This record gives sequence, structure tokens and C-alpha cells, in this order.
Amino acid sequence: MNIVLFGPPGAGKGTQADNLVNEFNLIKISTGELLRSEVEKKSELGNQIKSIIDSGSLISDDIIDKLIENLLSDSNSTNRIIFDGYPRNLNQAKNLDKILKKNKQKISAVISLNVEENLVIKRVMGREICSKCGLTFNKFFKPSSDLHHKCDPKFLKKRADDNENAIKKRFKIYVDETLPILDYYKNQNLLTIINGMNKIDVIYEEIREFIASLKTWLCKMYLYK
Ligand code: AMP
Repeated sequence: MNIVLFGPPGAGKGTQADNLVNEFNLIKISTGELLRSEVEKKSELGNQIKSIIDSGSLISDDIIDKLIENLLSDSNSTNRIIFDGYPRNLNQAKNLDKILKKNKQKISAVISLNVEENLVIKRVMGREICSKCGLTFNKFFKPSSDLHHKCDPKFLKKRADDNENAIKKRFKIYVDETLPILDYYKNQNLLTIINGMNKIDVIYEEIREFIASLKTWLCKMYLYK
């Protein structure tokens, strides 16, 4: 089962993907996280892309395609991937199909989280990531507390691209370049739309039910093949 989690920046894809990874033993591929870790390492690639990420623009398809191709050649991830923040345009979506086909895999479902721009801005402005354990919190919607986060609050950091200018730009790029991919997946009957305006737990419950029934269906298909 390979899932694409789709939605604007700030839709909660990363949080929902982390929940799914724990419950369904999936492997998350977040191109944003991979790129940010290159920036932190100050690798050659990281230095090249830092200012592009901080400004809210997209990284070139060549870089992204290479990154994905390397990851998908790892047999450990076969048929248990959840893509977060990828693909970002039609070119990447078509390339993903090619790479998956080469590795005898395919996409099982695309889950799109619908969220309006105003809420996206509020979510992004409140986002805090723990630089120690990697968990994501939100000052307004899911504050870090002793109950579910053991690290010192001093490790909570904001992302450099989580400022109002960059988020407006990222939302516009999402509408112009990323959203058109939905038709591509709709035409392949892969698309499921979920209301991403709800509370995190309510959204997760809906996604969880969908994935559980998809898993049962895929198992049956496999048995009767
Ligand atoms: P994200 O963590 O998904 O919000 O991504 C943060 C930033 O990383 C984006 O604004 C882009 O600059 C870059 N990025 C992440 N994924 C991609 C992708 N698939 N294609 C191009 N750029 C990406």
C-alpha cells in the first residue's frame, strides 16, 4: 500500500502522516523534511537550496526526482510508503509513476486534505517543531505539554519558511502548480477528499478508517488474484 497525502502547506499532512506511520507500519517520505535535513547538514545541496526553501519557492524537479529515485530503490520501503509533500507538480507526479513502475509498485490512494487559506496561515504561524525529537506542535491548536512531549520547551523551533510572506507564496504555488495534479489522480480513480478544516483528531479518525478499509480491500484483492 503506497499512499500520497495531498494538501496545501499547513494542512497537517506531516502530523497525520506521523500518526499513520505508527499505526500502519508505513514509511514516511517527506521531501520537505529531507531537504531541510540537507540544509541543517550544510551539505553542498543544502547550501544550494536554503534560500529557495526560505523564500517559499519550489526546488527543481531534477533534484527532487533524484532524491525520490534513491529512496524508492530501497526494498525496505516497498509498498509501505506514505508520501508527504510530494509530488508537487504534474511533472513530479508522472515521474513518480515511472519510478514506481520500474520498482513494480504503484500508488494505492491519494488522500487530499482540503483547507482554506486563512486557516492555513494560522496553522503555519503557530507551528513549532522540536529540534530534539522531531515532533510537530502548534501554539494555537496542539500546544506542546508534559503529557505527550518529554523534551525541554527550549528545543521548540519555528521553520524559517513559516512566516506570512513565504506562506502566502507557498499557498499560491500550491494553487497554481500542485492542485492541478488532483485531476490526474481523479482520472485514475485514486482520489479521496477529506475535510482538513476539522480538529486534528477528527481528521485522523477519518483518514484511519479509510486506510483500514483500503488495507482490507487490498488484502482481499491479493488473496483472490
Ligand atoms: P514542506 O515541508 O512540504 O512544506 O516543504 C518545504 C519546502 O521544501 C517547500 O516550500 C519547497 O521549497 C521544498 N519542497 C518540499 N517538497 C518539494 C517538492 N516535492 N518539490 C519541490 N520543492 C519541494
